[in-house]
Amino acid sequence: MSSMPESQPVKANPSLLEALQAELAERASLGLLRQRRVLNGMQGVHVEVDGKRLLSFCSNDYLGLASHPDLIAAMRDTASIAGAGSGASHLVTGHQQAHEALEQALQALMRLPGILLFTTGYMANLGVITALCGRDDAIFADKLNHASLNDAALLSRAELKRFPHNDLSSLERLLAQSHVRRKLVVVDAVFSMDGDLAPVPELLALCERYDAYLMLDDAHGFGVLGSEGRGILEHFTLDSPRIIYMATLGKAAGAAGAFVAGPKILTDYLMQTARPYIYTTASPAPVAAAAMAGVRLIQQDHARRAHLHQLIAEFRATCQLQRWQLMASATAIQPIIIGSNDEALQVSKRLLERGILVPAIRPPTVPKGTARLRISLSAAHTHEDIAQLLEALHTLEAT
Ligand SMILES: *Cc1c(COP(=O)(O)O)cnc(C)c1O
Repeated sequence: MSSMPESQPVKANPSLLEALQAELAERASLGLLRQRRVLNGMQGVHVEVDGKRLLSFCSNDYLGLASHPDLIAAMRDTASIAGAGSGASHLVTGHQQAHEALEQALQALMRLPGILLFTTGYMANLGVITALCGRDDAIFADKLNHASLNDAALLSRAELKRFPHNDLSSLERLLAQSHVRRKLVVVDAVFSMDGDLAPVPELLALCERYDAYLMLDDAHGFGVLGSEGRGILEHFTLDSPRIIYMATLGKAAGAAGAFVAGPKILTDYLMQTARPYIYTTASPAPVAAAAMAGVRLIQQDHARRAHLHQLIAEFRATCQLQRWQLMASATAIQPIIIGSNDEALQVSKRLLERGILVPAIRPPTVPKGTARLRISLSAAHTHEDIAQLLEALHTLEAT
C-alpha cells in the first residue's frame, strides 16, 4: 500500500464551469437570458412585482381560479383533514380520498371510463408516451408540440417523425410509409404559443385510416373550450377509443396536476406501467382538493367561461394592427407576431413601463423571426383591462 503513488487532490472540474459560464454569457449577449420575477401575493390579473402593481396578461390561469376562494378553502380544509404531504406514491399509500374524489369528479365531467391523475402535465406526457411506445413503434408529432411531448418521444426510443404544423397531407404521407408495430399521433389540441387548434376530426380520421392512435394534449383547452369546459373533445364532439386525452389542472383548473382520460384498459395499463406515475410521490391531498374545486367551477360556473369568450371576441374585434400581426386564434391565447427578438423585447418593456405585463416569447420557444407577445386573457379580466391593453398596443405600434 505504501508503494502506491500519492494521488493528486481531486479538484472541481473548472472546464465544465467555464463552459457553462461561456454559454450563459452568449445567451445574455443574444438577449436570450431568462429572468424570474418574484410575485408578492396571489396569482391573478393584477400582480405585485417589486412593489409595483401590474396588469398581467401572462398567466395560464384562464378562468381566474388560481386565487378563487373556493380553491383556497378546499386546500385549507383538506390540509386540516388529510395533512400537508401525501408521504408516498399512489401505488403505496399516497392515494388519499381527495385524489380518489378528484378522479371521480373528472370522470363525471369528461364522461370517459378511464381517468388517471398525474402530478404534473409534463409527467403525464412522459408517462403515457413511454408506456405505450418503444423501439418498435413510431410517434408522429406536430412541429409546434409542447416540449414535454418531444422529450417523451425521445425517452420512449420510438421513431420520431415530426410534421409541419397542422399539415395533414404531410402526416398522411408519413403514416402511409410507416410499417411499425404501433403508430401514435401526438398533438397539442390548442397550441401553446399560437393559440390555434389542431384539426382533430381530420387527425382522428387519419388515425382510423392508418390504424394509429391519437394523443391530445389539451393543457390549454380543458376548462376553456366547450360549453361545459370539456375542452377539445366537446368543441369537436369527439368520442373514440383511439383518443388518449391529457389535460393539466394547473391552467384553467387553477391548481396543479394533470390527468389522462380514455378507455379504462388504457388507464389500468398506465397505472401499472407509466414510470412517472409509479416512481414519484403523490401530490399533496390539499392540491387535489383545490383542483377538484376548480373542476367543479369549470362544470358549474358557465358565466365565467362565457365572460372569457366575450373578452376574446372583444379583443379581436378591437385590435387593429398595421405592422404587427394578431394571429388567428379563438382561444384565450392571443399572440401578436412582432418579428425580431429586439423589437418584441422592446415592446414588452414599454408595456411594462405602462404597468402592463405581457411576455415576449422568442426563439427557440417559437420559430426564428416570429418573436411575439403572448397575450393570454382570463375570465378575471374586465372590459376595462382589455381596453387598457389595446390602447397601449395601438399607441406603441404607431410610435
Ligand atoms: C403546461 C403544459 C404542459 C405541462 O403541464 P404542467 O402541469 O405544467 O407540467 C404540457 N403540455 C402543454 C401543451 C402545456 O402547455
